Amino acid sequence: MITTKSTREIEYMKEAGRIVALAHEAIKPYMREGVTTKKINEICEKTILKHHATPSFKGLYGFSAAVCTSVNSTLIHGIPSEYKLKSGDIISVDIGACFNGYHGDSAWTYAIGDVDEKTLDLMKVTHDALFVGLAYAKAGNHVSDISHAIGEYVMSHGYSVPSDYTGHGIGTSVHEDPTVPNFGPAGRGVILKEGMTIAVEPMVIAGKPQTRVLSDTWSVVAKDGSNTAHYEHTVVIRKDGYEILTTINKEELQKNG
Ligand code: MG
Ligand code: MG
Repeated sequence: MITTKSTREIEYMKEAGRIVALAHEAIKPYMREGVTTKKINEICEKTILKHHATPSFKGLYGFSAAVCTSVNSTLIHGIPSEYKLKSGDIISVDIGACFNGYHGDSAWTYAIGDVDEKTLDLMKVTHDALFVGLAYAKAGNHVSDISHAIGEYVMSHGYSVPSDYTGHGIGTSVHEDPTVPNFGPAGRGVILKEGMTIAVEPMVIAGKPQTRVLSDTWSVVAKDGSNTAHYEHTVVIRKDGYEILTTINKEELQKNG
């Protein structure tokens, strides 16, 4: 079932989203060599709890950590561990927070130390694909218009989008209808309405689109071992566009930073 949210519900989601954005801000100084992915998880969890929210992914389908930390060829669902980040790595951190029963969900890919040009380009294309897709996020458009724009943009740069993982509706559950794929034809299926809340999240593989799940039963990796990137925002659909919920305003950033 696809729901539209009331003004009050959107306020709760905005707070959840703000907390997710604060967690992303909090980990930025730790994006350096020698820091373990466990440490990043710890900082995120602390930030979320400090703001009277709970980590959305902890316990979700049995996931044990607060956030997902996916390094290099790991696309999504990487489990925080004792792995120490090293120069040249890229890490996608996917953070979810639940405030007053409502969720926010946002992923970002960070570069550690000196990252090669090719990998920086993968990050840039994936980042830009998010906003290329979001340009179609407005009432009256189809969800698939977002999907199509992302897929075309990514593939025009020679990269791939895996077909088995998608963005999603979000609200009182992290994953709600509709699914928001990162590929496919435009102008089909669900029509976006004012007040719908969705997580748009291009997941991009530098090489071939096939993925496999590691024996830890969580980590989704590029089958060909190539690098991957992931950017995600939770947004609310407005009449003439979208509003990002997983963000904080500049003044607050200064206050916190
Ligand atoms: Mg996410
Ligand atoms: Mg998501």
